[in-house]
Amino acid sequence: MEDEPTMARSTATQLLGTAEFSQKSLVKKWLACYQNGELLSALKQHWKSFVLHVFNEKNDIEKTERFATKFLLVPMEEFLCNGNPEQMFDELKKLDQPSQLCGKVFKIGEPTYSCRDCANDPTCVLCIDCFQKSDHRKHRYRMGTSGGAGYCDCGDPEAWKSDPFCEKHLQQHDQTYKNPMELLSDDLIDRASTLFMSTLQYTVEMLTWEQSDSLPTDIQPEGELDDSYVTMMFNDELHTYEQVINTLQKAVDCTHKEAVDFATMVDREGRSGVRYGTFSECEKARTVIERNTRLGSKPLKVQVMHTTVVSHHQFALRMINWLQKIISKSDGLRHLFCVLSMKPQANGQDSLMEKMLLADTQLWKAARVSSHQLLMSGVLMDQECKKQFAIIFTKWYRQLMHSFSLDDHDHEVSVSSLSVQIYTVPSLARMLITDHNLLRVILSTILQACEDRKNKNGKLSFDRSERNPAFRRSWYIFYDLKYALTCKPNPDEWTDTLRESFHNGLLAFIELLKLMQGMDAVTRQTGQHLEFEPEWEGAFNLQLKLEDNIALFLEWCGSDPKVLVNAYRATVSALVECQPPDDVRREDFTVAGKTAQCIKYSVSTQPVSIHIPVTRFLAGLHVQLGKYGLSVSSSNLLKDMHPSELIELSLRSQVMIAQTQAGMWRRNGYSLLNQIFFYHNVKCRAEMYDKDIVMLQVGTTVLDSNEYILQILHRYGLTAWIREEYDTPGGQEDSLRQTVMLAEEFLNLMIIIIGERFTDGIGTIEENEQVKREIIHQLCISNMSHSELAKALPEDANNETGLESVVHDVAVFKKPNATPGSAAAKGKYELKEECYAQYNPYFFHYSRSEQSESVENQMKRKRQEGGSDLALPPPVPPDLRPQFISIRNLLHSDIMMHIFHLILNRTGATRSRSWSEAQLERVFHLIGLALHEQLRALKENDVSFHFLTKATVENNSILSKLEKLVWHPNVSHDSVKNLLTWLLKMFAEVRKYRNETVCMDTLEKLSSTSDKKLEEDKKRKAELAAKRRAKIMAQMSAMQKNFIKENAELFEHTSTELPTVGTDMDTSDTYGDRFPIALGPFHSPSASGLMIREKCILCQEQQDITHMNRAMVLAACVQKSTVLSQSRGKKRSDIEDFDPLFMSSDLYLGTHTSTCGHVMHADCWQRYFDAIVAKERRRPLRFRHSFSYDIDKSEFLCPLCECISNTVIPIVPPLSTLLSESDRREVNLCFNDWLDGIQKSVENSVKAEKDKESEEESLLFQPCPISTITKMMAESVAKNFQLLWEYVYDDASGHFSEGMREMLRKFAVDVFTFGLGMEPNESNPWVPIMAWNTCAFTIQAVEQCLRYEQKPIFGSMTSRQSDCLTSLIKFAAVCSQVMTPDTVKQHCIRLLCVLFPDGVERKKKESRCLLDVDMFHYLTCLVMTLPTLYAEGHTSAISTLPTGGLNDQHALQLVITAHIVQILLTYDPSMADTMEMEADAEGEKLLGIYTKLREKTGVNSGHNPSPWELSAHVQKAVLPFLRCAAILFHHITNVPSHASLQERSDVEFSLLCKYLGLPNQLSSLFEDQGEVIEALITSWTNNTELKERLSGASSEKLVHYPLQCNELISLPEDYSDLINRVSSFTCPRSMGDDGRAPTMCLVCGKMVCSQSYCCQTDLDGMTVGAATEHSMHCGAGIGLFLRVRECQVLLLAAKTKGCFVSPPYVDNYGETDQGLRRGNPLHLCEENYKKLHRLWLSHSIPETIAHNLETNSNLLSLEWQQL
Ligand SMILES: [Zn+2]
Ligand SMILES: [Zn+2]
Ligand SMILES: [Zn+2]
Ligand SMILES: [Zn+2]
Ligand SMILES: [Zn+2]
Ligand SMILES: [Zn+2]
Ligand SMILES: [Zn+2]
Repeated sequence: MEDEPTMARSTATQLLGTAEFSQKSLVKKWLACYQNGELLSALKQHWKSFVLHVFNEKNDIEKTERFATKFLLVPMEEFLCNGNPEQMFDELKKLDQPSQLCGKVFKIGEPTYSCRDCANDPTCVLCIDCFQKSDHRKHRYRMGTSGGAGYCDCGDPEAWKSDPFCEKHLQQHDQTYKNPMELLSDDLIDRASTLFMSTLQYTVEMLTWEQSDSLPTDIQPEGELDDSYVTMMFNDELHTYEQVINTLQKAVDCTHKEAVDFATMVDREGRSGVRYGTFSECEKARTVIERNTRLGSKPLKVQVMHTTVVSHHQFALRMINWLQKIISKSDGLRHLFCVLSMKPQANGQDSLMEKMLLADTQLWKAARVSSHQLLMSGVLMDQECKKQFAIIFTKWYRQLMHSFSLDDHDHEVSVSSLSVQIYTVPSLARMLITDHNLLRVILSTILQACEDRKNKNGKLSFDRSERNPAFRRSWYIFYDLKYALTCKPNPDEWTDTLRESFHNGLLAFIELLKLMQGMDAVTRQTGQHLEFEPEWEGAFNLQLKLEDNIALFLEWCGSDPKVLVNAYRATVSALVECQPPDDVRREDFTVAGKTAQCIKYSVSTQPVSIHIPVTRFLAGLHVQLGKYGLSVSSSNLLKDMHPSELIELSLRSQVMIAQTQAGMWRRNGYSLLNQIFFYHNVKCRAEMYDKDIVMLQVGTTVLDSNEYILQILHRYGLTAWIREEYDTPGGQEDSLRQTVMLAEEFLNLMIIIIGERFTDGIGTIEENEQVKREIIHQLCISNMSHSELAKALPEDANNETGLESVVHDVAVFKKPNATPGSAAAKGKYELKEECYAQYNPYFFHYSRSEQSESVENQMKRKRQEGGSDLALPPPVPPDLRPQFISIRNLLHSDIMMHIFHLILNRTGATRSRSWSEAQLERVFHLIGLALHEQLRALKENDVSFHFLTKATVENNSILSKLEKLVWHPNVSHDSVKNLLTWLLKMFAEVRKYRNETVCMDTLEKLSSTSDKKLEEDKKRKAELAAKRRAKIMAQMSAMQKNFIKENAELFEHTSTELPTVGTDMDTSDTYGDRFPIALGPFHSPSASGLMIREKCILCQEQQDITHMNRAMVLAACVQKSTVLSQSRGKKRSDIEDFDPLFMSSDLYLGTHTSTCGHVMHADCWQRYFDAIVAKERRRPLRFRHSFSYDIDKSEFLCPLCECISNTVIPIVPPLSTLLSESDRREVNLCFNDWLDGIQKSVENSVKAEKDKESEEESLLFQPCPISTITKMMAESVAKNFQLLWEYVYDDASGHFSEGMREMLRKFAVDVFTFGLGMEPNESNPWVPIMAWNTCAFTIQAVEQCLRYEQKPIFGSMTSRQSDCLTSLIKFAAVCSQVMTPDTVKQHCIRLLCVLFPDGVERKKKESRCLLDVDMFHYLTCLVMTLPTLYAEGHTSAISTLPTGGLNDQHALQLVITAHIVQILLTYDPSMADTMEMEADAEGEKLLGIYTKLREKTGVNSGHNPSPWELSAHVQKAVLPFLRCAAILFHHITNVPSHASLQERSDVEFSLLCKYLGLPNQLSSLFEDQGEVIEALITSWTNNTELKERLSGASSEKLVHYPLQCNELISLPEDYSDLINRVSSFTCPRSMGDDGRAPTMCLVCGKMVCSQSYCCQTDLDGMTVGAATEHSMHCGAGIGLFLRVRECQVLLLAAKTKGCFVSPPYVDNYGETDQGLRRGNPLHLCEENYKKLHRLWLSHSIPETIAHNLETNSNLLSLEWQQL
């Protein structure tokens, strides 16, 4: 809505005209009415007219606010204070007792801190200020970001187990509570009461007002309402942004931008007026919107409202904020307000607060958020009021949750979310549970919600297709239940009232469990596969929500014996009620003379449910009986339930799972497999699997041992298997295999029942031992990082695993040594040596794969230790508690002995059809357990355990059977064999303990074989290693073959040998002691053996690189770059003013080329590329862009390494090989004469030309022939000058082959196209310029990379870098061969005009300012163009190449002189730290030059630098230029570098000068070099622009030397500092609104509002997010960002592509935390950040993105441009 300024003025005058406003008389009138008890009607009288004027859609936000303050709010403050409000509020503030509670209300994204050691529950949090002043910062804290609801709990003793106060709030502690209202004067209380009640009444009335076209009569304006309506659109969570925006554009005819603004407003505020107008106009918009959004069932909510109603809504909303402000002024006022708002109204109606609570879901989002904030800063800040509010809230809890479940807004914007502020306060929760039946209230709300979810059997059932989310939404209740249960009472805190109300709640809870008992039952499918996968997720979601609550209920029950017994009885009754009547028919089952009555039931044919929470709850209660000396028999707790019924359901689950393992449930599909997976999963198992095992263990206490095992055998269907005669042949093979597997599973279960004693109440275990055991077994699988380990452990109700407190007892944390250069890797835990003894291969929480992995790992460890004993025997289990001693008795029961004999017999039998090694191993394990128990019993003089007697006395005893097995072929594997040895040793030991003589004969024999085995082992290991190597080789070759097969078209006639990659030209042989000189007529000879031979990666053919051969190319990538920019964010000037020939000295935008170094034939590459394009064109359009490369931008992946590329660089033979020795002439021409000649050329080549139309004069550069110049020279000079340019115009052999020429042209055009972002155009004169530019820029970029690493330029480049530079430089040198010579010549003249400005100035044109030009780019272009300056004719020959001769030497001297002038002029002595050093002759000279230059420019320099300082500075500043020049000439001349140049050196400067043929003393460049250079220097300094620049009159930034190596911004060490910094970040587009995804550019530090509609912009017809937009002008398309709230690094390239990489922050375990899921404190890892920096500096971001996209196809579907 644009507001016309004239309109605004007229509204104001109109306002003052119609209703005369005088604050004084208004307040006076109100006071009078107040005396008569008529304040409300007086207020309404005023609001009737003023509200409509203030809240008028024609006023902008700022004006509305100003008017509201002036006309509406300030008068009320005046009334309240009856005088000056400011003064009054100040006085009131002084009366406040300083609050001991922080109570800071969090904004979205603000950092929060919880303490894992001290917080009562994870919802207790601190704000950053309190946290930093608290002791918790030294504890195990957890950080997070606020969702925008909640406040700081600092100072609340109930929130913290210790250290509840930070330093600040501690000082305000220890004051006794006084009612703050007592400090207010009576008449203030009176006035405030009346005003608060009146305003609140109005607010509640208006916010809940449901009429859309009329107001309550007392504020309805007089007369007929005008026809002024608005179409109000409301938000919901159903429709997407896109839908809303599209609809709006249609319905209200607005632009896309306006539609986005509306949609943003709707999302933020919950509603927005989208159309103002007459009723019929608005109504029409409404129908269009509704029609277009009728998605499925529900259209977008739209309402046509009269504008007067909207105005009063707005005022009511403003009033809430005002009230919040007023009550914050004084504790007394706040208390008063709270008391009043919660007071029932006079007419018997509910209090205003209750009205507001109940109306919550009717309100739009902004109104809700404001009213919740009022509650939080009001009632929740005052202890007394909070209690009262808690009672009110609980009273209405059911209604609130019910409306919430039917609503469609998020939980955070529902008033029901305030429960966390109340129920987590232990004292409040306890009070509510005791006196207000809180548990019952919450649970009956759940039960109510469950009502319409029951199926015909009265069980809960879920439907996948159901869309109604109401039931899901009601699951928030489970959090409230958990909060309420957190206040577990100590044993001495129980009262009868508490017992009663708790039991009440418990009964309701058991009701809920009953609804789940037996749900989602499954029946085994036989024959047909299941047609539909049954729903299973709903039930498990519910189970997950209940998990903590079940545990908490069990804890409550266990803390009081009376409560426990009552709970037990109630649960047993529930179990009985759940039992279907037909479940109790029984049959007899007899084995070895023992009989059991078993329930007639078959798991494989009848329904089974994995959900039996009632049974499991009972198991949880049962194990707690022992601590009060209770037992089922003593209190007759089971009533008339048969003991076997207790274990029946748990047993069925086990059998079903066993049958699934045995493959019997294959036809039941994935749904069953998922159920079984989650049943065992760490998140669910505590109240599912674990409790089933406990229940089975409980079963041993109520059943006779033999009967117990028989019951289990019966349920497993092993009634036939258990009989000796089963082994006689016959019967069906398939069912035999199943039976064998079931028998294995059965034995497994017996091991678990007998051996798993780490449950409190069953075994005597110490605190934490359970966690330790979990950790030990996890680490037996493999070493693990902290997060992997934490993920594998179960969490308690506070999401704690207890890992940190015990892990150091059992494991050592090993951090890998961070080797320099590699990123710091995360550390891992390694189990302590002594803990391996506790390893149990049958650990019940192992999955099958974990079990086999751990066994393998442990065997491997034992082998490595070199021992011969590979047995993994059972560890000694903990002692059983007396109540559970029956578990041990299973081991010597008759049936168990029968089973032992059975399996041992079958093992020893010559033929057995049902024997398996797995059965034997399990029986060995069980016998081992029995021996452990026997030893323990003997040690304790316990004579009730008879295993040894039973296993040894008989003739054919178990022991003798074991001894006979020693040489049996069925006991051949190391592990079994060693286990048998261990068993026999154990027997011996136990018998010795009983003073029996033992024959050690067999044992010795056994161990002697072991030695032999050891050797065999070694041999076998060696063989294995050889095999493994062979396998790896085979894999490698297979991969290669595969690659070739995939590219069959390309590899038609090739062998499958892989090429060797890349040649580093820089492996220099040096010339003995002579230091090489690369420039000048007498430069050192080129390196020998330069001929290059390359192999094409596509056709594998090798060939020499010559100018006539088939062209070969390197895959390359050309990109724009701002990496070197000294003025970040600078945009390129308009294309008309832009001239690429002169790179700006701040390098703000360059063209970078990189290559992976892989060589192909040009034609091979062309075929490869054409094939990709063809393949891509055949692809349907919608899949086109889902690729890591974009063929529309000529992109492809290198066929060998998949590096992203967009062009190819032709490989040119070494330049020196192109010239014959005879080309090198000895010419003698001094610098001055050379300059003179060039100057004359320039002056004669510049002409002025008048444009015929515009009459404007422009310059024409027309190179003049050399004869014109020589005529003006002395004869001897002329001769030499001429000689200098005389090249041999060779015959045709000097020309490049056509293939080569084509590639030269192609690459030049590509660089032009990608570097400038222009359409390809081969004839554009800028094409050659861009080729030289990318050469210069890439050299500079590589030089910076090396400089950043403090490396020399020679010998330290990667082969990729040197491959790239050598090919680029050679290319740049020859590319003028394929260009129009006239163009190149013109470029040369134009270049020279900068340093020879007289020619231009004589034509009355301002020459270019020296300070604006990057001298290295200049040098490169000059060197490349100079040879052609006097070339004649249109034929181009190879010999017009730079050779490193006299021309190049003089050119370098000229350019470096200019560069030193730049350095001296821009030197700012104040930037250097002054340090006095001894006199320095060179410095003195430079100082002289410095002062002279300054004088010439007429700029006063202030103070002069010291000579030493200046000379040090010049050396430092010129070094980058020298390094770049050395690279350039090294590759032009192939003169090798000297060894001393290949290491870091303090004298690098002098060495480089020497190499480049420059004087060591730079000052000598200004001495005696002739008059021409003197004059040139003077003319450079005469430039007016230069003078302006130096005097500071110009707005252009002055570039200083050396150019700074750009660094990524510096990041704080502590990640929370960063979170805190962004918490105050607001979206720059929407006034003061919090940005949701603040994203920081790591290059420039700018924070943008990413991934949000508010900040989207249009970029070349594409809608892009703020990060993408920023990357375009900050990084020329390349972006490197940190997404602060997600803690991840975002890389962006080319608008549409991106990827996430790990952030440079790690926790103490060396792990990153993308998404801040773990919340551990994070610190900056310099190493990782450097890695990111290198990535950016080396221009590798596009490459990284492409690799990421290739390997992770999920990323392809992300809309990166929207970030
Ligand atoms: Zn705080
Ligand atoms: Zn504090
Ligand atoms: Zn703490
Ligand atoms: Zn080839
Ligand atoms: Zn490659
Ligand atoms: Zn924004
Ligand atoms: Zn930036």
